[in-house]
Amino acid sequence: VTGFDVIIIGAGIAGSSLAAELSGSHRVCLLEAEDQPGYHSTGRSNALWHETYGGPLIQPLTAASRGWLDQPPLAYSETSFLNARPTLCIGQEEDAAAMDAFMARFQGTGVALSRLGADGVRAMIPGVRPEWTMGILESASADIDVAAYHAACLKMLRRSGGQVMTSSRVIGLSREEKSWTVRTEKAELRAPIIVNAAGGWADDIAVMAGVAPLSITPLRRTIAQIRVSAVVPQDMPMVTHIHGEFYFKPDGGGRLWVSPHDEHPTPACDAAPEELDIAIAVDRLEHVMDWAVQAVETSWAGLRSFAPDRLPVVGFDATSDGFFWCAGQGGFGIQTAPALSKICAALIARRPTDPNVAHIDPRLYAPRRLRA
Ligand SMILES: Cc1cc2nc3c(=O)[nH]c(=O)nc-3n(C[C@H](O)[C@H](O)[C@H](O)COP(=O)(O)OP(=O)(O)OC[C@H]3O[C@@H](n4cnc5c(N)ncnc54)[C@H](O)[C@@H]3O)c2cc1C
Repeated sequence: VTGFDVIIIGAGIAGSSLAAELSGSHRVCLLEAEDQPGYHSTGRSNALWHETYGGPLIQPLTAASRGWLDQPPLAYSETSFLNARPTLCIGQEEDAAAMDAFMARFQGTGVALSRLGADGVRAMIPGVRPEWTMGILESASADIDVAAYHAACLKMLRRSGGQVMTSSRVIGLSREEKSWTVRTEKAELRAPIIVNAAGGWADDIAVMAGVAPLSITPLRRTIAQIRVSAVVPQDMPMVTHIHGEFYFKPDGGGRLWVSPHDEHPTPACDAAPEELDIAIAVDRLEHVMDWAVQAVETSWAGLRSFAPDRLPVVGFDATSDGFFWCAGQGGFGIQTAPALSKICAALIARRPTDPNVAHIDPRLYAPRRLRA
């Protein structure tokens, strides 16, 4: 039996970023069921840093992560993980009230938003149909190099002496005295603290540990990579819809990533796209753009896992010693990982929080709130 200070279950961005944060001060073991860390949600995202995404209670986490992603510590990377990609939320004439409400929702949060009229929308999205006359521009948003960020966290962990064990699905958890025993198909490990960073499987891990689950539900979302009749400008913004029916952004080589913004509850699984969702994505795009879709080159789906109130779940479970939740990152898990990993590391190490996140009250995200 090998002993550690902390065993983290799940090597997506949540588990990996936390492992890297803890690795300087703790003996950390990161366990991943698949042979590739990042095989599930982390490798299937839209790879965007988008400050208004998730609402005003997620925004502080997103905002606190930006500086780190833009200028990571040198030990992680010598280059930024971000590339500018403004986001433009669009609507039609009848959406004026919804556009006003969007602006009002973020008033006082510090998010830089500006309104655009029909000309402004057309200037940013050549080929947009004339009925899309309203826009809200977030110029600070950016593409995230998710693969580089994720790899940098794993590199940090290994460099500090931490272990990453892939093809190591956790199949048993038990607590005796002051220690958890974690069984995988290959090994038996021990640590006083275990972290549940299992994404869509977070509730399953809780049940395995004898901890009551928190109704963290995986929702499937689809992205199709398509080729269109026009040349897609590489500097086009990410385009979202005021009522959340679609989004699209350019990918390299004149292609587009398009999502129908679907949310299908599903058991945790290796999510796959359905033909109908791809067809809806194409149809919605053709209602926005005067472009013909020539081919769907590839498509994928991933799980976005939410607690009932759609806030992340981070903190020790009050009902079980040494069981720490790092779950429910929904559709914002990459863009909030720098902040969330620092908050989690401080709670686990019982040390003061990093100054960049000291203004965020972690009790807002504590599992206790879901146990009423
Ligand atoms: C289509 C789509 C678009 C998205 N777009 C964005 C975006 O633009 N920006 C953004 O910030 N976020 C986005 N997200 C959300 C983001 O991808 C997730 O919030 C994030 O990846 C969650 O990370 P995670 O580590 O919790 O989950 P995962 O990456 O799923 O990692 C959990 C890991 O736990 C492992 N695991 C499960 N059970 C066990 C077990 N028993 N033993 C060992 N390991 C186990 C799994 O194999 C998995 O690798 C998007 C998601 C989707 C699906």
